[in-house]
Amino acid sequence: MAVRNILQIGDSRLKAKNHSVSDFNNSKLKKVVKDLVDTIHAGGIFIGIAAPQIGENYQIIATELKETKTRTGDQLDKLRVYINPKIIFYSKTKNVAYEGCGSVAHADLYGQVKRPKEIIIEAFNLDRHKFRLRCDGLLARVIQHEYDHLSGIEFTEKVIDYKKLMNRDFYIKKIKNSKQQIQSSTITIKEFSEL
Ligand SMILES: [Zn+2]
Repeated sequence: MAVRNILQIGDSRLKAKNHSVSDFNNSKLKKVVKDLVDTIHAGGIFIGIAAPQIGENYQIIATELKETKTRTGDQLDKLRVYINPKIIFYSKTKNVAYEGCGSVAHADLYGQVKRPKEIIIEAFNLDRHKFRLRCDGLLARVIQHEYDHLSGIEFTEKVIDYKKLMNRDFYIKKIKNSKQQIQSSTITIKEFSEL
């Protein structure tokens, strides 16, 4: 098990080009995926991670919407790994929700980001099976946030109102259980298929 440090903004590796994976039997690839999974499991509050956040410049992201005191029911989703992901559809309808990031002040800074409500993503899993996932809610948001990391983009570059930034304590107290945050978080998996 290797829990890796999460790089913080300012580190050039977060802005470096991320290479697509070509050799799925590469032991290095398996190690990167395992480290991503170990790191997302270890960081109690992380619900998504991108390979560049651990200094590995590959097109790989992972999501896992774990149960917490305030995240339950239809805001949960199992561990998923996306290799060479491509978001092939963004809904016209967008919503606004607060986001934080392990690479931004160690997830202690939250701000509002407007994103398409629903997406379709295609990617490969570690067994080289291509899959397609259509979803909305918190899962669609986390996938888009992590996908942005693969282009070197932090959520701080997309915040719509810098006057409403807040630290984690205020976010938990004031926002996390707000109607808007909860409504925008409800997940529906509309399609999951292997291609
Ligand atoms: Zn992030």
